[in-house]
Amino acid sequence: MSYNIAIDGPAGAGKSTIAKAVAKKLQIIYVDTGAMYRAMALYMIREKVDPADAAAISAKCKDADITIAYEGNEQVVYLNGENVNPYLRTEEVGNMASTTSVQPEVRKKLVELQQTLAAKTDCIMDGRDIGTCVLPNAQVKIYLTASSAVRAKRRYDELTAKGETCDLAKIKADIEDRDYRDMHREHSPLKQAADAILVDTSDMTIEEVIEHIMSLCRR
Ligand code: C5P
Repeated sequence: MSYNIAIDGPAGAGKSTIAKAVAKKLQIIYVDTGAMYRAMALYMIREKVDPADAAAISAKCKDADITIAYEGNEQVVYLNGENVNPYLRTEEVGNMASTTSVQPEVRKKLVELQQTLAAKTDCIMDGRDIGTCVLPNAQVKIYLTASSAVRAKRRYDELTAKGETCDLAKIKADIEDRDYRDMHREHSPLKQAADAILVDTSDMTIEEVIEHIMSLCRR
């Protein structure tokens, strides 16, 4: 049986930074499920699908072949054979992902891919529904969160460091909208699994969070 760690939590809580670091320390694979939902969203944007048209999203998602590979320890997402990693981390794609990920057809397809991967590989997987739906039997489950003000500031710093001009208040409003959609959707809403450990990173450094999670894994 493979060893699986599940990390869930809202946007900007630091899931991917922490999961990547823990994966490296434990020498296991990091699976970024948000990137898969983002690839699906990118497909919908390119196909000019109206985000409000649920039927169109459900129908179109059948034509999006999403696969992942590991190249030099990096997860690469392929959309119909194209490496789409460079296009996934924009606010536009993130917001579209939170709209399209509501559709059960989209979720079913990506959850199957995630479960197949986790069954054959030791991994740390992050997302919104990993502890509750994708890997209910994961050996370690973490619910990582932070206040929306702290999460918005982190995203703002990340974007400005890349040279992008952005508005902190707008980022905070987008994060809160995204949280609301992720937590209130009908299928697999974001919530803490009953057996997940809550880690609030608002007042913690990255190193402190990594050390804390490593200690939970050693238990
Ligand atoms: O984590 P990330 O910001 O990349 O995720 C983008 C969006 O994909 C989230 O806002 C959420 O709506 C969706 N998602 C999801 N289930 C997951 C991972 C991401 O619904 N397991």
